[in-house]
Amino acid sequence: MPGRRPQWIIRIARERIDILFQLADKEFSKHPERSHRYVELARRISKKYNLRIPRKWKRRFCKSCYRFLKPGYNCRIRLSRGRIHYHCLECGRIMRFPYIREKKFKRRNKIERHTLKKGADEKIPINNNTTGREGWSQ
Ligand SMILES: [Zn+2]
Repeated sequence: MPGRRPQWIIRIARERIDILFQLADKEFSKHPERSHRYVELARRISKKYNLRIPRKWKRRFCKSCYRFLKPGYNCRIRLSRGRIHYHCLECGRIMRFPYIREKKFKRRNKIERHTLKKGADEKIPINNNTTGREGWSQ
């Protein structure tokens, strides 16, 4: 495909994003301004190469002011109605993420336990449809 970036470039870009976030995490206690800068650089790479920020780091920066978030320092995390609230203390914005994945897993476990109790011959359809409301609404 013309114009497509080779795989090795993508790989390096991914690595860089990861390294930048690791550095941001490390430097935060001493130089928070550096952490914010690292987030900025990581975002720039992700945009340039059209890469997603890995799940692990996705919630570690504010969606509004793009500052690095360190829970307990400049970020408050609370649970409410099946959602995790990330409160950015830099700009005051609250990000909400549903924790539906965990809830779905729990529900499925419950169904399976129930089926076992009732007898294994009975077939209860377990909803494997993942297209529903799963996913991250932000
Ligand atoms: Zn913010």
